[in-house]
Amino acid sequence: MNLNDPSLLRSRCYVGGHWVSAASGKFFPVVNPASGEEIARVPALAADEARQAIEAAASALPVWQKRTAEERAEFLKRWHRQILENREDLARIVTLENGKPFAEALGEVDYGAGFVDWFAGEALRAYGETIPSPWPGRRILTFKQPVGVCAAITPWNFPLAMLTRKCAAALAAGCTAVAKPAAETPLTALALAELAERAGIPAGVVNVITGPAEVLGTELATHPKVRKLSFTGSTRVGRLLMAQAAPTLKRLSLELGGNAPFLVFADADLKAALSGAMLAKFRNGGQSCVAANRFLVQKEVYEEFAAELAQRIAALKVGPGFEAGVQVGPLIHAKAVAKIEALIAEAVAQGAQVVTGGGRHLLGGNFFQPTLLKDVSPRMRIFAEEIFGPVAILTAFTDDEEAIALANASEYGLAAYFYTQDLKRALRVAEALECGMVGVNVGRVSTPVAPFGGIKQSGFGREGSKYGLEEYLEIKYLCLGVGEE
Ligand code: NAP
Repeated sequence: MNLNDPSLLRSRCYVGGHWVSAASGKFFPVVNPASGEEIARVPALAADEARQAIEAAASALPVWQKRTAEERAEFLKRWHRQILENREDLARIVTLENGKPFAEALGEVDYGAGFVDWFAGEALRAYGETIPSPWPGRRILTFKQPVGVCAAITPWNFPLAMLTRKCAAALAAGCTAVAKPAAETPLTALALAELAERAGIPAGVVNVITGPAEVLGTELATHPKVRKLSFTGSTRVGRLLMAQAAPTLKRLSLELGGNAPFLVFADADLKAALSGAMLAKFRNGGQSCVAANRFLVQKEVYEEFAAELAQRIAALKVGPGFEAGVQVGPLIHAKAVAKIEALIAEAVAQGAQVVTGGGRHLLGGNFFQPTLLKDVSPRMRIFAEEIFGPVAILTAFTDDEEAIALANASEYGLAAYFYTQDLKRALRVAEALECGMVGVNVGRVSTPVAPFGGIKQSGFGREGSKYGLEEYLEIKYLCLGVGEE
């Protein structure tokens, strides 16, 4: 694969500072979604091997949590430097196993590295407080302490950033971690583990395990020594993990599915809205939890917006992520292609119109044509479900009330976007939208410094920002008698 440093491509798991295979000898293949070719094989660990990783994290915890915040920050800074020094190789691995265009993969490395840098800084700011006491002879103090061993289960769509966003926060707080990446994209996670090792992060502080999701997931969600589980993925699996984690009452962060509305009001700067729409929809080929899923456009500008959006969509270059100028890579697998095909067919049968695209791409395999459907009704399945592909759908609205009602007519509540030049409307609509993140006149909101997360069936918990650290900290209250009562 032409890596500058081929030793970044690890095909064993990282447990307690050792690179291990499955005792059973079982493995599973990692496949390039652009070609269908096998890239590597990684271990299919069993339940007892997941438990060994949890034990390794538990053994490393006492020493790691006693390190000073400054020492932990220093380890994170070294990890950050390692990631940046190997930026191109990491991006190559991301493109190879995920399929996204190489330029986007580079962007993901920078974004993902940003979390490590950010939490190196936040490690120093896990402040407690003093609270005015109601008793003269007592003082009230709070401390922040690490939650303990944390599990991180991550998806394939941002294989690098989803892992650093969790693990860097955990490590900064003084927790140790066991990460299970998605089966489609384990190589990025293993490369990150290799770089953590090179950064000198002590054995057992970060562990990466691969294998059957149900088996490993059950261990991570039920093991009593795991005190916190952070999951990014589908709402279906999030619910399952929450139920599994209930008997041991784990702390949970659930970053689940989305169905972001993208509203265009008649007073919007249409050019800016079109650029924002392309960014919000087609990054990672639409396979993003914050991807614009439903374009709601005020009827006065509906036809103009549809025509211009169609032109931009039709001009997108589709192809393998390493090809120069490619803007949309393949979908992750054949199942995703079939799902999108079915959603479009059903919508068209119910009256939606294909403006551009509409089906599989001539390149075959997992490639799909960037598509625009208009006249989509809120009753259609494509309106209600997360599309997770390069398909934009348009629905017209008449006034603010209808726009807000349509936008909120979803069980999800992750991100929302809207374009308007009216400040009063901007505030009113932003406050009325049922979601965790709102982009006003912007098509992209993610950054390590801001709180990322959702409400409703998009889950709970926040990642990044100062709140991202809190997810890995407990508050301990100390009532200190000072003998003057
Ligand atoms: P998924 O099926 O839920 O998979 C996500 C992770 O969960 C993978 O590591 C997967 O492992 C694992 N998993 C699957 N079944 C499991 C089980 N029974 N027990 C424990 N772990 C299990 O999600 P996906 O469809 O691949 O990913 C896309 C979804 O993630 C979308 O809904 C998207 O919106 C969401 N997402 C949300 C955010 C956010 O921040 N809110 C960010 C990115 C993505 P295997 O791969 O080995 O099956």
